Order: sequence, then structure tokens, then C-alpha cells
Amino acid sequence: MPARTGRQFIDGLKDQSREVWIGGERVNDVAAHPAFRNIIRSIAALYDLQHDPATRDEMTYVSPASGERVGLSFLTPRTRDDLVRVRRMMKHWADYSGGMMGRSPDYLNRAIMAFAAAADYCGQIDPRFADNVRSYYALARERDLCLTHTLINPQANRSEGPSAQADPYLAAGIVKETGDGVLIRGARMLATLPVADEIMVFPSTLLRGTEEDRPYAFAFAIPCSTRGLKFICRETFDPGGSTFDHPLASRFEEMDAVVIFEDVLVPWERVFLLRDVERCNKAFSATGAVAHMAHQVVTKNLAKTEFILGVASLIVDAIAIEQFQHVQGKIAEIIYYLESMRAFLRASEADAAADRWGVMTPAWPPLDAARNLFTGMYPKMIEILQLLGASGMMARPTKADVEGPMRQVVEKYYQAARANAVDRIKLFRLAWDVALSSFGSRQVIYERFFFGDPVRMQMATFGSYDRQPYMQRVRAFLAREDAADVEQPPVRVRASE
Ligand SMILES: Cc1cc2nc3c(=O)[nH]c(=O)nc-3n(C[C@H](O)[C@H](O)[C@H](O)COP(=O)(O)OP(=O)(O)OC[C@H]3O[C@@H](n4cnc5c(N)ncnc54)[C@H](O)[C@@H]3O)c2cc1C
Repeated sequence: MPARTGRQFIDGLKDQSREVWIGGERVNDVAAHPAFRNIIRSIAALYDLQHDPATRDEMTYVSPASGERVGLSFLTPRTRDDLVRVRRMMKHWADYSGGMMGRSPDYLNRAIMAFAAAADYCGQIDPRFADNVRSYYALARERDLCLTHTLINPQANRSEGPSAQADPYLAAGIVKETGDGVLIRGARMLATLPVADEIMVFPSTLLRGTEEDRPYAFAFAIPCSTRGLKFICRETFDPGGSTFDHPLASRFEEMDAVVIFEDVLVPWERVFLLRDVERCNKAFSATGAVAHMAHQVVTKNLAKTEFILGVASLIVDAIAIEQFQHVQGKIAEIIYYLESMRAFLRASEADAAADRWGVMTPAWPPLDAARNLFTGMYPKMIEILQLLGASGMMARPTKADVEGPMRQVVEKYYQAARANAVDRIKLFRLAWDVALSSFGSRQVIYERFFFGDPVRMQMATFGSYDRQPYMQRVRAFLAREDAADVEQPPVRVRASE
């Protein structure tokens, strides 16, 4: 099957029987359930962009295997131009939601592409694993699968590793290996988008290289409908209203779930890494996956910052506050964030280089800087929206008010300098959904954490960035004796001066 349409994605979900729980109940048909149907429609809309005559050529490429057009986010880049093509494709998807969908399928398509290109990394544990990851990539590309992933062990006792928790199977671990595959028991948190087709269960939390940690070291991917796999969701942040009332939550509430493995059998052909702690700890960086994922993330961040600049500027314009100096300063601050994201992205492509597997890989330092700075930039932009919108964020009647018996009153008292009441209400409802609703608050914690704990990411940058040349330059500067120092006698200062 080539690049899918939205309809094909939805029909594919209906064919699967997964175990998703929400509010104490098991969901039978996610595509019909109010907590999931809207995000499913939005993912479907992304797939439809692959067939839209206006975007099709930028969204797809010809598969090297089938000769059919497949999603461009699966492309293995060999040149810098390829990276630019992929970024353009990803930007179309990110713009669709104003950057509010973290799990648009391109994010993990970039990961599985990189793992497959670096399949020999997995093959050094067992040659079958290299074949497995290559075949899985081809399957995901040719079937245009939508993937989610889960990396983190349950947050029970962070002062101990997975083997020293209250229960050895609190964190998902290997129970045994059989002729058919590997049996997994325990939990992982978190998986955003539990309505994806398949889940990548990959390493992330750093494990110690001890015998006890080896059962927690693995990478595999399985259908979300695999027997024994359970998703326990939080409550939905989509209150079920109209797009007028909840412009973002009603479309892009992706949902997060804790993933439980009740003796899940992972077939051997889906195993990519097993029991090799060191190889698991380094997997994302050694395969280049982290750089390709960050390329997608910074593209999404660019789209998100552009969207927020648009919302903030429309507020400023609507209520005519543009003459105030601090307002200009706040808008300027968002512009600086936007331009820095754009510059980091360009730098990562301009300085891209082929890795040891011949994959053109975006430069890591600018992407690392961008992803880490954004964890602080995003909450700052949300604060700016709150400070600009002020009480307008609360003066936001619903569609029912706008269309009900109070319509004329609403039209009079909710008008703005440069917007009629309905347009002003729609704008402020959007700003509220970005900056204050439960959907908006989740976006803030998402941006802070989804790519990892910002504290430990800073520690990783500190540990890996080569600062020696700069230290050496300063040492040389301190040691430098300028000609003037040698030739001129020192200035004598009398005690009385
Ligand atoms: C909205 C949202 C969606 C997410 N979606 C996904 C997803 O789809 N897939 C996925 O795999 N993950 C997902 N995550 C999880 C994300 O990867 C983690 O939040 C992140 O890696 C941090 O881990 P943690 O939440 O377990 O925090 P913890 O590790 O429990 O940290 C809690 C606090 O303790 C501190 N701390 C803990 N250990 C250390 C240490 N060793 N050194 C210094 N400080 C420490 C942290 O700095 C933090 O302040 C999501 C998270 C959020 C918030």
C-alpha cells in the first residue's frame, strides 16, 4: 500500500482490536469514541495532504522497493537537498496544527528510518536484529504506518534503577525468551497517541551495565493491538464542544497513556536490540536517530512559534495595544525566538554531513541547542500571551452565547477596536486554548519534557560538547605578552595617588 489517505488510516484502526482504557472503561472502537475520534480525524487529515494536488509532490517520493509513492518522512537522506525536502514535507504537517501535534507520524518515521540505515548497529548483537529493523522500516514505509513510542520506566522510585524497584516487573522487563520471541511484563510511561497503529518500545532511560539491568535493555516494535498490551489513558482534554469553543482541544488532543505489558510476546522478527545495556544506552545517538528526530522537532517548533506570533499579533491588533512599548518588546521577543529556531534549523542542514552509514545527518549542535532552548522559550511565549490577552482571556462566551438570545448584547459588548465581536471571541478562545486551557497547559509540560528531562539534557550537552578549543584560546590569551608590554616600562603609581 502506498502513502495512505485519511480514510485508509481510519479503516485500518477499525480492523484492530486494541485494549485502550479511559475513565475505568475499555474503549471498543477508538475511531468512534469522543476522546479519540477528533485526533484520529486530524491524523487522517495529515495523510490526506499526501494526496492533495497542491502538496502531493512535496509530501511523497517514489519507494525504492515498490515503485509507488510513499510518505517523504520515510526518506533516507543522502544529500543536503534531501534534508531540505524532508523538512518542507514535515513543515506542511506541522503547519496543519500550528505545531500542536507532537506525534504527527513524521516524528517516529524519522527515527525508524535512521535505525534501519544503521541496522548494522543492531546486527552487532545478533545479525537477525539488523534484518529485523530493515524489514520493519520497509513495512512501516510501504504500509505508511502511524507509530507511537514509549521509552521511560514508571515514575516510582527514581533513586533506584528498574531492577531495584518494589517489584522487578514494575518497569517493563524480559520474563523469558522462547522459540517464538521474547515475553515482556511490566509498564512503561508514557505513550502519546495510543491510537497509533504500532508502538516502538525503545531504550532511553540510562541503564547501568550490570547483570540486573540487562532484562530492561531492549528495542522492539509491535502492533498496538498485540495481545496483553494495555493503554491506560488520562482523562481527555477535549471537552467535546465545537471547534468554535475549543479550537485546538477539539482537533489536536493527542492523549497520553501508560503502557502495560501483561506477558506480551514480542515475535523474534520484531526484536531490534536485546540485553545489551551499552548498545541500548547509546542507541539513539549512535544510529543518528536523535538528530533526525530533532530535525522534525525543530521544524515543528518553528511552525509552533510562527503560530504563536500570529495569535499574539492578532490580539495586539484587535484591541489596539501596539503603541505600548512593552507590548512591542513582547512581540519582538517572540520574533527573536522564531528567528533563532529558523536559524538553528538552517544551520543543522547547512552543516549536515554523511554519517558512517552514508546517511546525510543534520548537524547535532544547533539542533541540540534549539531543542533545549525551546523548553524555556515555549513557557515564556505562553506567559506573553497571558500578559497581552489579560482579562480578554476570560471574556470569552461560547458559541451558544453568540448564537443564543443574548446575541445582540454579545455583539455590542465584545467588539474590539479592529474586530467584530464574533471574530474577537474566536481569537481569544484560541489564545485561551493555547495558553490557559487544560489542552494548553499540557502543551507546556509536553514542550518541557517530551524529548527528555531538560536537566539531564543539559548535563549531556555539558558532558559531550567540546569546549577545549575555547578554553585553550583563553589560556593562550592569558599567556600572551603583547609587544607593548615588553617594550614599555610599567606605569608607576605613587602611593598618594
Ligand atoms: C505530555 C508528555 C508526553 C509525553 N509523551 C511521551 C511519549 O510519547 N513517549 C515517551 O517515551 N515518553 C513520553 N513522555 C515522557 C518523557 O520522555 C519524560 O517526561 C522525560 O523523559 C522525563 O522523564 P520523567 O517524566 O520520568 O521525569 P523523572 O525522571 O521522573 O524526573 C522527575 C524530576 O526529578 C529530576 N530527576 C530525576 N532523575 C534525575 C537525575 N538522574 N538527575 C537529575 N535530575 C533528576 C528531574 O529533573 C525532574 O525534575 C511524555 C511526557 C510528557 C510530559
